[in-house]
Amino acid sequence: MYAPPPGKQPGPLSRPAPWRARPTSHRAGTRHDGGGFREHLRLGRKGLAIGIDIGGTKVAAGVVDADGRILSEARRATPGSDPRAVEQVIVELVEELGRGHRIWSVGIGAAGWMDLDGGTVLFSPHLAWRNEPLRANLQQLLRRPVLLTNDADAAAWAEWRFGAGQGEDRLVCITLGTGIGGAMVMDGRVERGRFGVAGEFGHQIIMPGGHRCECGNRGCWEQYASGNALGREARILARANSPVAQDLLAAVGGRTEAITGAIVTELALAGDPACRELLEEVGEWLGLGLANLAAALDPGLFVIGGGLCSAGDLLVEPARKAFARNLTGRGFRPAAGIQLAALGPNAGLIGAADLSRVSSRARR
Ligand SMILES: [Zn+2]
Repeated sequence: MYAPPPGKQPGPLSRPAPWRARPTSHRAGTRHDGGGFREHLRLGRKGLAIGIDIGGTKVAAGVVDADGRILSEARRATPGSDPRAVEQVIVELVEELGRGHRIWSVGIGAAGWMDLDGGTVLFSPHLAWRNEPLRANLQQLLRRPVLLTNDADAAAWAEWRFGAGQGEDRLVCITLGTGIGGAMVMDGRVERGRFGVAGEFGHQIIMPGGHRCECGNRGCWEQYASGNALGREARILARANSPVAQDLLAAVGGRTEAITGAIVTELALAGDPACRELLEEVGEWLGLGLANLAAALDPGLFVIGGGLCSAGDLLVEPARKAFARNLTGRGFRPAAGIQLAALGPNAGLIGAADLSRVSSRARR
């Protein structure tokens, strides 16, 4: 189990990130409307912000306005894992994008855990950042307010503000890629738990003793309902010499190891029955995990994003069915909706920019 290093626990005196703060106009009876926070957003600065999404292979950046529109974009390859080299790339991108725009703040999204204040990266799997005080370094270099946020949190925020989650105050976002990312926006705030590490839904154990996960456990949800899971099952099918996998094998020139989730999705969309079955199976695991989350969190809507979503209804329909079959108290309660994300791969940078704009306003 992860424990923050000594001295880094967000204690009672540490200032919570502003977007987590209870709205000042919060009163009994307004708990679910997020009205106070909306007021804050309405009054918030209308200036431009730069959002930067640091992935394992590329860094994507964009100038984002107060309505979530991207006005200009730039990209770089992720420069290895050295924190100083990553900082340098961020500075270059901000300088490049800042020409011709008046930039108010900079938001940075990356895989990993940030402290609740949005100043320090506690751990990032791709970047070898361990307890890196990235915000202090960058604010000095950029001379602007900087916010660090988890990439899944940023994407969820963007979907809530500008995408498929608009109008829903109890929102859970799931990102299906190589693994499963998760985040929650509850009552107009990104909900990150006590230590800033909430949302690791991909590691709920859904099959005790099942496939080994990189987190060290067995049977995690992301071993059954992700793009990687889809690729793995397709390779197993191909190795079994099943005649149903003929077309799949032909598509990769007989090289079983070249089969990926993306290839299976492409073939399924083209009508291949074996690949459709494989996607259906992943969709069922997805729906089962969502039912578990509904039992714990009771959201109004699940928004499903990430690369695997290009499968559309081939994935989401089986997920909806499995969700309905496994939902606690089904038949006696309203059920959450399950929708595809609306903002695509730019959700992370849009959300990081918007969070930095909104929260830097609150800090002044
Ligand atoms: Zn795991």
